[in-house]
Amino acid sequence: MTETKHFYQTFQPTHYNVFIDINRATKQISGTSTITGDAKEATISVHEKYMTISSVKADGADVPFTLDDKAEGIHIDLGHTGETTVEIAYTAPLTDSMMGIYPSYYEVDGVKKQIIGTQFETTAARQAFPCVDEPEAKATFDLAIKYDEQPGETILSNMPEIKTENGVHYFDTTKKMSSYLIAFAFGDLQKKLTTTKSGVQVGVFATKAHQPKELDFALDIAKRSIEFYEDFYQTPYPLPHSWQLALPDFSAGAMENWGLVTYREAYLLLDEDNTALDMKQRVATVIAHELAHQWFGDLVTMKWWDDLWLNESFANMMEYVAIDAIEPDWHIWETFQSSDVPMALQRDATDGVQSVHVQVEDPAEIDAIFDSAIVYAKGARMLVMARALVGDDALRQGLKAYFEAHQYNNAKGADLWAALGDASGKDVGTIMNSWLEQPGYPVVSASVVDGQLTLTQKQFFVGEGQDQGRLWQIPLNSNYDAAPAIFKDTTVTLGDYATLRQAAGEPFRVNVGNNSHFIVKYDQTLLNDILDHVDDLDPISQLQLLQDLRLLADGRQISYADVVPLLPRFANSHSTLVAVALYRIAGNLRKFVTPDSAEEKTLRAFYDQLSAAQVTRLGWTAQAGESMDDTLTRPYILSAALYAQNAQAMADAHQLFEANQANLAGLSADVRVFVLRNEVKNYGSADLFNQLLDAYRQSADASYKADIAAAITSTTDSALIAKLIEAFEDADTVKPQDLRAWYRGVLSNDAGEQAAWDWLRNDWDWLEKTVGGDMEFTTYITVTTGVFHTPERFAEFKAFFEPKINTPGLTREIKMDTKVIDSRVALIEAEKDAVNAAVAKVAK
Ligand SMILES: [Zn+2]
Repeated sequence: MTETKHFYQTFQPTHYNVFIDINRATKQISGTSTITGDAKEATISVHEKYMTISSVKADGADVPFTLDDKAEGIHIDLGHTGETTVEIAYTAPLTDSMMGIYPSYYEVDGVKKQIIGTQFETTAARQAFPCVDEPEAKATFDLAIKYDEQPGETILSNMPEIKTENGVHYFDTTKKMSSYLIAFAFGDLQKKLTTTKSGVQVGVFATKAHQPKELDFALDIAKRSIEFYEDFYQTPYPLPHSWQLALPDFSAGAMENWGLVTYREAYLLLDEDNTALDMKQRVATVIAHELAHQWFGDLVTMKWWDDLWLNESFANMMEYVAIDAIEPDWHIWETFQSSDVPMALQRDATDGVQSVHVQVEDPAEIDAIFDSAIVYAKGARMLVMARALVGDDALRQGLKAYFEAHQYNNAKGADLWAALGDASGKDVGTIMNSWLEQPGYPVVSASVVDGQLTLTQKQFFVGEGQDQGRLWQIPLNSNYDAAPAIFKDTTVTLGDYATLRQAAGEPFRVNVGNNSHFIVKYDQTLLNDILDHVDDLDPISQLQLLQDLRLLADGRQISYADVVPLLPRFANSHSTLVAVALYRIAGNLRKFVTPDSAEEKTLRAFYDQLSAAQVTRLGWTAQAGESMDDTLTRPYILSAALYAQNAQAMADAHQLFEANQANLAGLSADVRVFVLRNEVKNYGSADLFNQLLDAYRQSADASYKADIAAAITSTTDSALIAKLIEAFEDADTVKPQDLRAWYRGVLSNDAGEQAAWDWLRNDWDWLEKTVGGDMEFTTYITVTTGVFHTPERFAEFKAFFEPKINTPGLTREIKMDTKVIDSRVALIEAEKDAVNAAVAKVAK
């Protein structure tokens, strides 16, 4: 990579006076950005994008400047270095890209309305006002905003408003902060407010399309999260308020702008009376994640984007730490095990994956490093490993010191390791660097060789991988004392197996608790021993066993045909974790069968065998006082039973539909999606489809809308599928932020796959224009990859994407996904017959 000069090297701002005038009617922005700072060179550079610059003054006098579109900035000739004040006047368009300053659209009582909000991370503050748009360039900001204001409208920003003069809203000076964390929003908003024990004002804001009660859950979680962090970090919340704002159009999940966190509506607002428990947990963890950033990310910020993981991995861990503390009954770490852990292990097994810590310069590439499986999930697992190594006392003490040393400033990964190392007396950095700087992870093979219990480590790949002899410092967490605490060599021998087994009195295991980032391949002796005692294992260990077998099968180290006969013994577990792991494997088996073939019929029978007893036990309706595991397991069981075409389950769902036809939104949110999908698939009609599509357009309830989308995209009627495809580009029906879920729904529907794939290829330019600017864009490729599994589709995938391989931001994703489909197609070709024979043998 060529060395790119950071603008901060030329100009170091200390304070901004920013005035922005926003006109919604004309979709125009005009403003002035007045920046005081230290010029390090006679020619300084300031970021801007898509702007028309009308004048640049330095210390009151016009100075020459040149635009540089490629660098997204202007170069200003000051003729001198040192302290200076630069004033840049500009105009810019207000665009519907969900980046920079942008409108969000919604309807109240049939009237179309909009609110204006912002999204600046990573590099879009430069679309709102000229600035040195790099995380290291921390400064204070005085923000003044004018807009075509209507009576009753509210305006919010990072800091409280201090005055309004001539229609201009002036906000209090911010703390020293990075430009990507600036935010503001205005429109016709409702709110709910409260105050923390320490006096921080907490608020939730939303459009009036929502019922007021939908704000309550978030308000409570936000308040208690801030109180938790103030205690855990031993560092006060740094600002006077913490606003949470739901925006109707929002590309990511949420954004941690300092003091004004913005959210996708689905991740902030919910009706506590009818929202599925897993959705409540999801919303709570999203809020806790963003609020963790108010310290870690906002108060102390990564120096450059290569250390993005420092922000995201940490917040991803803390969302679980916080929610586990404030809602202990939820056992939220189980969700970490069933979602983040498998996501990280799957993605990180493909050769060519990025390491957690990754070099990056080009703005398009910066967005592309937000790989949720790596930067969020794997990184969080690294920090969970670090937390286990140092313990919570040292973690808290280390964090307190870290915040004290770097507050209102920037830090690098090494600074965190130093703080944790000082607090714990352990060399955290050396251990963690082996995980952060290297892509991938090891498989630890445990085997009895000549009577000796032996461990080896080797990088694990799904698909072709180039072994580079990488080694990791692995916290083994074995239940046998003979195993080293940290395994850093290629091989280690633990001693005579028979003696060790006798002394321990239980099967040999490593990675107990599943908190280290590796998988285990036990030889047949050791695996049989574990399986003989499988009922003694806790749910996390059972999940881990199934997960490691699945990955080993994906990596062709064992065969799915050998895993199939093990599944029935996990089928009647009352643990959600076990159901998640079991049905993930069962789901993979579906890729081995052709739709509507004899093999698929047998597979459906196998699904019925796995799920039948649990359907009878759990039913469609929650029992009073049932366990949380039962509530969370039910969806997996019902989904399996419907795939199995279990006649009773289909009839029960149909009956529930008929009984609730007048108020489908009122169906219990825990089972609603299955009732609707069953109805569309098995009892569907154009009338029902149209009725649901209308309900989708009219509803403001995000989880009901998601259920409808999942239901109608499962239709088998080709005319209705054509109608779905038409809706993709109709923003009044499907918002661009929600399009990916619709695309995934139609693509993963056997009857819709061709139409959805044709649409993606034909309308790629439209898609790129509509959502290409945001960091979620590459996930359209990932979603496609998740579905494809035949040689024909693989050839089409390559024919379409290979010519795009040099598009900035897409390169890595196309390369990775090509490998993923390639290895899956090869696996299916090689093992299809054996796997289907194994299913036929087990299915009753
Ligand atoms: Zn985050």
